[in-house]
Amino acid sequence: MPNPKRKMSKTRRDKRRTHYKAEAPALSACSNCGEVKLAHHACPSCGYYNGRSMLIPKN
Ligand SMILES: [Zn+2]
Repeated sequence: MPNPKRKMSKTRRDKRRTHYKAEAPALSACSNCGEVKLAHHACPSCGYYNGRSMLIPKN
């Protein structure tokens, strides 16, 4: 198996990782109830997504 010739120093490894950071979740207000919710997810408080309720199956 090919391997790196030398061990990468902690400094070099950590310098590379300075670009790694946690991103804040995309939050938006629900268009039905105004509650803060995750973007592209059904609203946790009223169950609406794209103007339709996702709680009751449509049949
Ligand atoms: Zn809602």
